[in-house]
Amino acid sequence: MEREAALNAKGYSERDEKRILDALGRGLLKEFPNPERTGCPGSDVLKRIASHAMPLAEAEKWLDHLTSCSPCYRDFSELQAGYRHRRMRTTLAIAASILIVVGVAGWALFFKQKGPAVVQWAVLDLRNRTVPRGGEATPGEQTLEVSREVKRLNIYLPLGSAEGPYEIRIATTAGSAIFTTNGVASLKDGVTSIEAAVDLSSASSGRYVLQIRRPNSEWSSYPLLLR
Ligand SMILES: [Zn+2]
Repeated sequence: MEREAALNAKGYSERDEKRILDALGRGLLKEFPNPERTGCPGSDVLKRIASHAMPLAEAEKWLDHLTSCSPCYRDFSELQAGYRHRRMRTTLAIAASILIVVGVAGWALFFKQKGPAVVQWAVLDLRNRTVPRGGEATPGEQTLEVSREVKRLNIYLPLGSAEGPYEIRIATTAGSAIFTTNGVASLKDGVTSIEAAVDLSSASSGRYVLQIRRPNSEWSSYPLLLR
């Protein structure tokens, strides 16, 4: 990165580099054998140009020579290829490290999302509750609590409840429903339970009543605290 910044400071852009290569390409096409290497700048200069270590302003004065010397073009091409290869490797290494960071972040996000997803399930256990009428709390029984974040309810029905369709609603203590849904209760491992999707995100927290009934039957009401 520091190196890259230093190169940019020396004023090479991709276009400059292409211009140099084009110039050198023409030089090669013109075929200047120059076996005596007359006027050649020497490998150090070529290296510095190829690696962008030489400021462009300083490199300019060699371009005339480089456009008319095939050996210099050949040397430069080799140096350039090596330099590009190293730069490519650096780029790949950076890309790989970015992928690793993204991967780790992805996993972190996955687990982070997995955490609340567990919380978004709530079990409401009605098995050993008395069935109060009117939603008044029965002394000695802890009020059912559920988070407004909850997206799914798993309701364990009172022992002996029948399987089949049920209506579920959450109402204010004044009796107006804020959420209504249907579910089918099934018996599993001695527990009759209903799973239902809920959305209580727009409700305000406070005291409500959870009501459950089989179709056309009377509601059973349980005090419910929405957190
Ligand atoms: Zn030369």
